[in-house]
Amino acid sequence: MNVRKITFLFTLTLFLSLSLMAQDKVKTEFNFAPLPYAYDALEQSIDKQTMEIHYDRHHRAYYTNFVKAIAGTEMEYMTMEQILASISKFPISVRNNGGGHYNHDLFWSILSPAGGNLDGSLAEAIVKKFGSVDDFKKQFEQAGATRFGSGWAWLSVDDKGELFISSTANQDNPLMDVVTEKGTPILGLDVWEHAYYLRYQNKRASYMTAFWNVVNWKEVSNRYEAAVK
Ligand code: MN
Repeated sequence: MNVRKITFLFTLTLFLSLSLMAQDKVKTEFNFAPLPYAYDALEQSIDKQTMEIHYDRHHRAYYTNFVKAIAGTEMEYMTMEQILASISKFPISVRNNGGGHYNHDLFWSILSPAGGNLDGSLAEAIVKKFGSVDDFKKQFEQAGATRFGSGWAWLSVDDKGELFISSTANQDNPLMDVVTEKGTPILGLDVWEHAYYLRYQNKRASYMTAFWNVVNWKEVSNRYEAAVK
């Protein structure tokens, strides 16, 4: 091999390595997605004004503050799942606002005006784990009812593919390394007062009962299938 060839190959290798390194450094695109239905679409369970304030003020603030909190850091190059999985390493503002952004994205996706039926392998897994759909709902509502102050109730899949119910404080969720019950959340219920106070005031239990009428079971099932794969 002559010197010219060696120089060419060396230059090519260097160019390819630098391109790969540059690719590693592509920023993640975090975005504030549109609400997938109108503010009044869930009226039977959640009123229009609550939806508007919840999405456009509360969720938007979590998103904006999350973007600010990660600016200029390694987190701009990580996925949300990667950030949440090592949240203990990062400032509390990322935990609160990144959690807030992720949790609300999930929440809007698992709600739907059409509702839909709980069936298929998710329904089977729920009956197997909790005895019946009604027992499952009772336990889930219990998790929300006993969360003192602000937080969430969750149905998640653990690393063995098993369903479990849990609750977390503030904007924590089961993907975070700081929580005791870890897994992939497939259904979440926001039990912060901002989620229900206008219509239900202090009656969190009534809000939780009404929640079942607007659950998007198709989306929850899709999340279940993806988590157990
Ligand atoms: Mn909320």
